[in-house]
Amino acid sequence: RAKASSRNTYCFYEAGMDAAVEKRMQLEIEMREAVVCGDFALHYQPVLRLADEQIVGFEALMRWPHPTRGMISPEAFIPLAEETGQIVPLGDWALREACTEAASWPNDLRVAVNVSAVQFQQPGLEQSVVSALAASGLAPHRLELEITESVLVQDAEAVIACLHRLRSVGVRIALDDFGTGYSSLSYLRRFPFDKIKIDRSFIREISDPDAAAIVRAVVGIATHLGASVTAEGVETVAQLEQVRQEGCTEVQGYLISRPLLTEQATEFARGERVRAAA
Ligand code: C2E
Ligand code: MG
Ligand code: MG
Ligand code: MG
Repeated sequence: RAKASSRNTYCFYEAGMDAAVEKRMQLEIEMREAVVCGDFALHYQPVLRLADEQIVGFEALMRWPHPTRGMISPEAFIPLAEETGQIVPLGDWALREACTEAASWPNDLRVAVNVSAVQFQQPGLEQSVVSALAASGLAPHRLELEITESVLVQDAEAVIACLHRLRSVGVRIALDDFGTGYSSLSYLRRFPFDKIKIDRSFIREISDPDAAAIVRAVVGIATHLGASVTAEGVETVAQLEQVRQEGCTEVQGYLISRPLLTEQATEFARGERVRAAA
């Protein structure tokens, strides 16, 4: 069916459309179908706590295993899903799937789920979180929602109120990709969050004293506000030692593990395998 509509689309627009637009439209059609059919997957990247070097949880990262295009990365389809509104059912699915999976892990492990700003613009997010918890039986404190500062751009008051209600349920809030995007320090005061995740662009450059100073400053502010700090994208032992020295509490990155398939994550969670690669 997708093939047929592809052909029609192509004939109709052939004259004026370039290949990129054509490809995008095709992807949009296929995504709509994949959302309905549940053709997406979550991979899980371990999060290591530095104090005792224990795995404390996993971040769920979405993938689209496409029948002909191979594994499509979220960078290629999340923006499109946001523009078309498909992120709402897709994000809802991710919450349910991640909570169900995490409920089968040892019960001190958390799962982090990325939530798009677009999901906050819809009224159903809170209900979606609450019903994912109820359906899976996952304790609310084991669920962490990762949001970026972009959620505050529109109607910050409504978003902050929503975050407070989610936290009162027991869910944790993490501020993702910190240091990219808007990064107004005033957000840090208004935003009720439990964790800051420092974007990997800073970690990549952490051997540079300026980048290190920024990480140190963020750790200082976070500590003052009672939040923990995760360093994203740790790839080398040198980076691990430096973020430890700057006071980060948790790390994530290829040095620890790449995102894992569901079964590998379960094994990893049960400690049956110390290191594995997807
Ligand atoms: P993010 O939430 O900041 O996730 C971290 C990204 O960094 C992931 O890319 C992860 O695979 C990658 N990463 C982790 N460690 C390393 C490392 O050591 N080196 C390098 N180079 N990369 C590392 P991924 O899985 O491609 O996801 C990209 C982005 O897509 C995510 O960034 C997030 O913004 C978005 N995303 C992924 N899954 C979802 C989802 O379920 N919902 C929404 N709304 N967005 C999602
Ligand atoms: Mg994230
Ligand atoms: Mg991030
Ligand atoms: Mg990101």
